[in-house]
Amino acid sequence: MSDITKQSLTELVENIKNKKLSSTDVTKAFIDRSEKSEKLNAYITNDFTSALDKAKKFDQKPNFDLKLPGIPMAVKDLFCTKNIKTTAGSKILNNFIPTYESTVTENIWNEGAILLGKLNCDEFAMGSSNETSFFGNVQSPIDKNLVPGGSSGGSASAVAGQLTPVTIGTDTGGSIRQPASFTGIVGLKPTYGSCSRYGIVAFASSLDQAGPMAQNVKDCALLHEVISSYDPKDSTSIDFKRNHYSKELTNNIKGKKIGIPKEYRVDGMPKEIEDLWQKGIQYIKDCGAETIDISLPNTSYALPTYYIVAPAEASSNLARYDGVKYGFRAKGENLIDMYEKTRSEGFGAEVQRRIMIGTYVLSSGYYDAYYLKAQKVRKLIKNDFDEAYKKVDAILTPSTPSSAFKIGEKTNDPVSMYLNDIFTVPVNLAGLPGISIPAGHDTKGYPLGLQIIGKAFDEQNILNIAYAMEEKINFRNKITDWWIK
Ligand code: GLN
Repeated sequence: MSDITKQSLTELVENIKNKKLSSTDVTKAFIDRSEKSEKLNAYITNDFTSALDKAKKFDQKPNFDLKLPGIPMAVKDLFCTKNIKTTAGSKILNNFIPTYESTVTENIWNEGAILLGKLNCDEFAMGSSNETSFFGNVQSPIDKNLVPGGSSGGSASAVAGQLTPVTIGTDTGGSIRQPASFTGIVGLKPTYGSCSRYGIVAFASSLDQAGPMAQNVKDCALLHEVISSYDPKDSTSIDFKRNHYSKELTNNIKGKKIGIPKEYRVDGMPKEIEDLWQKGIQYIKDCGAETIDISLPNTSYALPTYYIVAPAEASSNLARYDGVKYGFRAKGENLIDMYEKTRSEGFGAEVQRRIMIGTYVLSSGYYDAYYLKAQKVRKLIKNDFDEAYKKVDAILTPSTPSSAFKIGEKTNDPVSMYLNDIFTVPVNLAGLPGISIPAGHDTKGYPLGLQIIGKAFDEQNILNIAYAMEEKINFRNKITDWWIK
């Protein structure tokens, strides 16, 4: 079956359950394609040999009651995988082999899935283009000159390029939704506290969330159902009643009220983004839902707030990489010299920039002016959403202010890179769920995404809205296979 890699996760599960395909067939097909994908640079580490062994074992003793029976899957290299190198895209972790498994990946393997390998990402998930990885940049399967987005660029490239049926990423300020939007796939950032952060290399602990990335909304719902769980090993994990997201998925969104926030119409936004948004509004109406103009007045403060809070937390989280406890160690004349050399050689430029910003905003004398102020503004941003949700059930916005940009285009201008997160960061600051769905193409034929933001713990609702819209949009990704060896 040559078209195995074109099948959705839902189809593959179905075909394995009714024995039209074996796990070995499916695993082989994705390995074959992955092996031809060197140019994309989507993988940091592959585990193909043991993946095939596991697939064969599964076929000898299949368990069709599992949700991901014998399904191969590559994951972002930010999730700790027991006995398998986990680098976070950094030189400083380039020889780190965890002795434990992240809860999210454990949930995936417990449902029968098989690890294909670890996917490239921006260093410590800091970036919007997957150009900050120590292992080199990732290319987009859409066009060789384009970034796939970041930080989950390897994950987006691997799903859009059909190297893995689905995957997981992490989203601190947009790293699932922005690359999903750039590569024409679906990406869900769940409510903070839905998916355990245990065993995920930390970037900014009050913002980080793991979430699914997939070819379609149904696959996304199924994977979310598998990864979302209460975990006592994560003190911020929340014990709430989780839905059977894929089973309860419905395209009936009649009567829903969807907010359209005027502050997301930012200066300099290309007309094609505005047009896409208008089309989205029309799709919503075609589905029988109603749109309502709303205001989220503190939106313009979200980006500066994020770029204070996230580096502050990052500088604290990354203090542990000192050449003693983990990974890379540089030679030094004494202890302090060793620390300094390890950190200056082990971290890339973007990570060092964040550590410097973070330590600055936390330092005595500046703490009140920056960090404390940012925390207060964060609350105001959250209040805006609370106020809006008194009137609406969800909010519709563009996912990004542009389509994918060119490799190298923004690397020398960090601020313009940060501006790309303008529509995604407010969601993380408020701890809310958000999903990006592919909704059209720009004039160059590159994918564009729309974002649906939900109330806390209301993933089912935004999945349903996405599902209904997906049917109307009928998006087809333009993958050329330019990268196939
Ligand atoms: N682009 C954002 C940043 O660099 C978001 C990254 C993320 O979500 N991990 O901080």
